[in-house]
Amino acid sequence: MLKYIGSLLTAAALACASVMLASCAKPEMAPAASGEWRVNGGTNDEQHYSPLQQISQSNVGRLGLGWFYEFDTDRGQEATPIVAGGRIYVSTAWSKVFAFDAGSGKLLWSFDPKVRGDKAFEACCDVVNRGVAVEGNRVFFGALDGRLIALDAGTGKALWSVQTTDPKKPYTITGAPRVVRGKVIIGNGGAEYGVRGYVSAYDAASGKMAWRFYTVPPNPKSGPDGAASDPQIPMMAATWHGEGWLNGGGGTVWDSIVYDEKYNQLYIGVGNGGPYDYGIRSQGKGDNLFLSSIVALNPDTGKYIWHYQQIPGESWDYTATQNMILATLSIGGQSRDVLMQVPKNGLFYVIDRRTGVPVSATPVVPVSWFKGFPAGSWRPSIDPKAYYSKGSALVSPGMTGVHSWHPMAFSPTSGLVYVPIQANNAAGYTALKTFKFNPHGWNTGTDLTEVRLPEDPARIEAIAKGATGALVAWDPVAQKARWRVDQQYERNGGVLATAGGLVFQGTPDGRFVAYAADTGRKLWEYAAGNGIIAAPISYELNGQQYVAVMAGFGGSTIATGFQFPQRERRAGRLLIFRLDGKASAPAYPTIPRPALQITEPEAPAATIKVGEATFANNCLVCHGLGAIGGILPDLRRSPAITDKVVFKSIVLDGALTSQGMISFRHRLSDADAEAIRKYLQYRARALASNEASAQAR
Ligand code: CA
Repeated sequence: MLKYIGSLLTAAALACASVMLASCAKPEMAPAASGEWRVNGGTNDEQHYSPLQQISQSNVGRLGLGWFYEFDTDRGQEATPIVAGGRIYVSTAWSKVFAFDAGSGKLLWSFDPKVRGDKAFEACCDVVNRGVAVEGNRVFFGALDGRLIALDAGTGKALWSVQTTDPKKPYTITGAPRVVRGKVIIGNGGAEYGVRGYVSAYDAASGKMAWRFYTVPPNPKSGPDGAASDPQIPMMAATWHGEGWLNGGGGTVWDSIVYDEKYNQLYIGVGNGGPYDYGIRSQGKGDNLFLSSIVALNPDTGKYIWHYQQIPGESWDYTATQNMILATLSIGGQSRDVLMQVPKNGLFYVIDRRTGVPVSATPVVPVSWFKGFPAGSWRPSIDPKAYYSKGSALVSPGMTGVHSWHPMAFSPTSGLVYVPIQANNAAGYTALKTFKFNPHGWNTGTDLTEVRLPEDPARIEAIAKGATGALVAWDPVAQKARWRVDQQYERNGGVLATAGGLVFQGTPDGRFVAYAADTGRKLWEYAAGNGIIAAPISYELNGQQYVAVMAGFGGSTIATGFQFPQRERRAGRLLIFRLDGKASAPAYPTIPRPALQITEPEAPAATIKVGEATFANNCLVCHGLGAIGGILPDLRRSPAITDKVVFKSIVLDGALTSQGMISFRHRLSDADAEAIRKYLQYRARALASNEASAQAR
């Protein structure tokens, strides 16, 4: 069982504002009392906290739908909305942007950057987008294909567009930009594929690049980059060894970027190493700066100020990209300006913002890699058993982490941080015996063929039941949980805390819930009919408080299908709530998904085995463990697998390229494709037989 949990979770593991009026010249100085939500995390402190209190513990039971809007895609919705100037702006899957009247819900405009479908292949974790930024009369967002685009907030027309990445490399953008002192700051993703991370700043008016900071050193054979990070090249380069990292090294800044007004510092969260395997990447030596680090930069110049590396020699996809919250806490009788983060590795970090030195770092749930800090040091002791370069290791958490991008929230009223966690996440990591860089796919250096589910559906169900979540109310001063709500599933949504004493959070099984911020008691629930993973926000317009959230399940794919076997693919929606809201959104249609009747004779076991391994190495990261799907169609139910010609036209000839299913002609032979088809038929037969026996019971 352990082995399966290991491999299963490996899978899980692999899974890897407003029209600012001219009078609002300094958006970064947005007052906390504003009824708007101008920055991704609410204000520049990014606390995901609303000071509004019209909706309170005593009346939240009257909360109802004010209006909603249904989008044109059933892929994941991860955006935090922005509200300013009476408008609400959201981005959706495929990097589209929509602007609505925040009161009436009238669609004002939408913009489609027309990202090519085949770019989906280079997105580890769905074609998502986590939001726009707004300043003055401009809306900024990153497109999946690496463009940073400025739109006119009034009309939605493009003002400028710049390519921020090398289009020949598998970079993507899913994170939201931030606007700081006239510059738009944007990062990128792609560490699973093999890219070199960096963050860039562009002039908000012209789109001209102002500076760039690389988080990983350049190839020693090439000179300095001519970038803001050049002075740190010797410091970084001394911590990398061998040549395994030369296809990039990872360290992408794919989500959190926070601006500190008080110290005029920009904090970037740096991602995992590429390949994951430290042995392959760096001969198992060196810290590999700045992987898994928080780095403070001067926002005007990009110059380095300080860094704190959470995981020297990162090997488990432990990113430091999760959302960062700025606050002033009273600790030991002293007022401390701190940055708080719970990265994938599971520790709650409270870090002095001025110096970058931790104040405390405490596991939120038990994690196996962490053996404490040596006296006088904030360099963690890592359990040697967690390394897997010479074989395999079962490690908690796994690649999806204790906490990923789903934003946590801090309430200055309660003093608590509300963290959406994956409560018992773990993964088996197995090193590849031989690693060869693949320019057309994942390059984690871990063996995907070891990632599989058991055949017995009862055991799959048991494993799925073990993957639970929790909402933890954490006291960052006392370093302990004040309350915890256990949840049936992992991948619960981002969090909003309000001055009304409420905490809002969605669930992957389609509920939107309000809890009492002081006790965790559930006070209200709305059935959304679609999984909610994005963070809610709150805003006020004409004396009315609203709560808004994007509904639409998606994100990292591998372990999704078997954990949510009943899930249907449903169109994303923007949901807006207010007291006594009486709107109703139509129920989603239920689409029958009968099991296929496979009439072809069963292939020999050897062929199925080849098909299984070929599937694991080429298809698994998008189509899921056991081909169960989740975000993408369940291939066990796809009629394409019953027709050799159709299947080949898709897999080898790229018939569905516009939807992200590229041709695999560069990797697969006709025989490979046919073996995969036979494996999928085998899986379809198992499904039909399981469903038949379930009906008979
Ligand atoms: Ca990653």
